Amino acid sequence: MMKLMAANWKMYKTRAEAVETARLFAELIAGRLPADREVLLIAPFTSLFAVADEIVSAPGVFLGAQNFYPAAQGAFTGEIAPDMLLDAGCAYALAGHSERRHILGESDEFVGKKVAFGLAAGLSMVLCVGEKIEQRKAGELRQVLTRQMEAGLSEIAPDADISTLVVAYEPVWAIGTGLTAGPLDIAEAHGIVRELLRLRYGEKANEIRILYGGSVKPDNCGEIIGIDNVDGVLVGGASLRAESFAAIALA
Ligand code: PGA
Repeated sequence: MMKLMAANWKMYKTRAEAVETARLFAELIAGRLPADREVLLIAPFTSLFAVADEIVSAPGVFLGAQNFYPAAQGAFTGEIAPDMLLDAGCAYALAGHSERRHILGESDEFVGKKVAFGLAAGLSMVLCVGEKIEQRKAGELRQVLTRQMEAGLSEIAPDADISTLVVAYEPVWAIGTGLTAGPLDIAEAHGIVRELLRLRYGEKANEIRILYGGSVKPDNCGEIIGIDNVDGVLVGGASLRAESFAAIALA
């Protein structure tokens, strides 16, 4: 399975900064990206077209968006439609990132609508799931992942091509905190996600990539990527500098 090394730039970088980071990153990995790896740059909306131009000739490097509204078009002031993202050169989009769930108040149901709508529109969807620290302490890991996965996948059409679906396990307490989940915790959570995917999709579940996210850095990426059922990483803070994200992509 192709590993997916994803950079989530969140609400950072002007267009010029995004282009500069993408250019330097592409230079640093040129000719060095292992054949079984893909890279994803998830840029702010305002930089998408410019970053697309920058990576167009970089093999294995794809563009992604952080969000969209699940409708084809319409009177939704301030929102962006999947077709607009495809037009900007995006192949991927996120849904259910913890910052959107917990800061912007997105519900499990709304995340599910986005996953289904995005897939149907032709985007590869990255469904993000993960527990808060109090849920982990209360022993609710499986329960939280089950709820988020069921709602996140529930609206997908039965005939949809789920080979473009990606799930990212991101424990909320590890995002941007410098606290990485330990290898056993990651293996356990990814095992649960794989099991939930198998219950729903049978054998096809084995083709769905499961990424780990939460304080991934150049010096812990090698170990994380080697854990069972870890098919890539989703990186925030350490993806903002081209040098550190290149080290991660090549780890
Ligand atoms: P982080 O963010 O790498 O800064 O912890 C990960 C994410 O939010 O995807």
